Amino acid sequence: NHDIHIIGGGLAGSEAAWQLAEAGWHVRLSEMRGVEATPAHHTDALAELVCSNSFRSDDADSNAVGLLHEEMRRLGSLIMAQADRHRVPAGSALAVDRDGFAGGVTAALAGHPRVTLVRERVDALPADGPAIIATGPLTAAGLAGSIGAATGMDQLAFFDAIAPIVHRDSIDFDIAWFQSRWDKGDGRDYINCPLDRDQYQAFVQGLLDGEKTEFREWEKDTPYFDGCMPIEVMASRGPETLRHGPMKPFGLRDPRTGHRPYAVVQLRQDNALGTLWNIVGFQTKLKYAEQVRLFRTIPGLEQAEFARLGGLHRNTFINAPRLLDGQLRLKSAPHIRFAGQITGCEGYVESAAIGLLAGRFAAAELAGGALPAPPRTTALGALLGHITGDADAATYQPMNVNFGLFPPVDGDVRKAERKARLTGRARADLGGWMGVAA
Ligand code: FAD
Repeated sequence: NHDIHIIGGGLAGSEAAWQLAEAGWHVRLSEMRGVEATPAHHTDALAELVCSNSFRSDDADSNAVGLLHEEMRRLGSLIMAQADRHRVPAGSALAVDRDGFAGGVTAALAGHPRVTLVRERVDALPADGPAIIATGPLTAAGLAGSIGAATGMDQLAFFDAIAPIVHRDSIDFDIAWFQSRWDKGDGRDYINCPLDRDQYQAFVQGLLDGEKTEFREWEKDTPYFDGCMPIEVMASRGPETLRHGPMKPFGLRDPRTGHRPYAVVQLRQDNALGTLWNIVGFQTKLKYAEQVRLFRTIPGLEQAEFARLGGLHRNTFINAPRLLDGQLRLKSAPHIRFAGQITGCEGYVESAAIGLLAGRFAAAELAGGALPAPPRTTALGALLGHITGDADAATYQPMNVNFGLFPPVDGDVRKAERKARLTGRARADLGGWMGVAA
């Protein structure tokens, strides 16, 4: 007998289960590992870290993921408590002993009087009763099919194709300019960076020479869908391919010269706040350091700061901005919430953070009330706001937490001061929300 069913005992499902159980609700937590493995996990422990043992920066004053750590600690996060307990030295980053960490999460939940941990694979969305789906990037096929049937298969992705995303305030507008191709749209839909012939040729060569990340063995059959082929694969098809593809200059005029440039890199707005812009068509498997080096050779992007770099991986995620409401409920079946990487957030910490919110939202609903979303000015609220509406649904791709998701602070302030204001505002606003939400 349970009050809520959570499917998936990874980072998100474990945190959601903890929040609900601590709030007094009985949870059935279904985890398939133990009876069926995934291609990436090696153990049957809850919250296993499939790759790195790092939760990234723990600096809450100048890093958005560090701030997210702090907010989760303030909200009694099990994932953060166990990470702190099993911390290993890693400078200003938070890294953990992975077996100790996952063992600690498993023991806390398996021993909780209000959690029933069941080793089973669930193959269909629950028809009724409150549920949280937290089955992650490697959701088993049967359940993925059931999600696709409920949402429309075109709303569920099995691979991501991530183009790099740039903070707008790091773009040099002495070089770059706003213009839509053939002057369609309102003229501010695209930011354009011009390349001359030499710059274009050097850039194409850089793509060909750049070190790439390999697909993992079980990702080898990753298909290149039309429109999301890695930029370096496109470049390998011939020196002119990009100039007739994503870097085509047609319909554009550089206001500094009055002429059409030889080639153009275009950026498109990525969030409603207008703080983040993605480089159109630049999904890539180049290594991160290589991406930073090469993309900063693009005129106008010399000082670019990246909110995230490009990638292409096996990844199951729904079009959350279109399908979910602000409480992480499926609009078409509101007894079901989604949490974790399947919502299109990216990373251990982000997945756990969305699990925390899903758990708290569900707990408030079980109690007959509703928990308001955390303010957009907090790390939790900024991430939630992005995935449940602020991101562009037409081009939705996974996202890490970063300061570009926060409403900007007023005034023209220097970077360090800006971060201090953002984090100060976040701390105060989370406190205010906790006062109301408690
Ligand atoms: P998971 O932690 O994967 O949890 C989902 C759980 O659901 C799993 O335990 C799975 O067994 C279970 N499950 C799936 N289907 C079913 C079903 N039908 N019935 C019952 N149970 C089911 N992020 C980082 O921050 N750093 C990294 O280094 C990193 N490396 C990654 C490497 C790989 C190969 C992948 C795929 C992802 C990586 N990520 C990384 C991204 C992401 O943060 C993690 O995948 C994270 O674990 C996501 O948390 P989650 O709770 O959403 O999913």
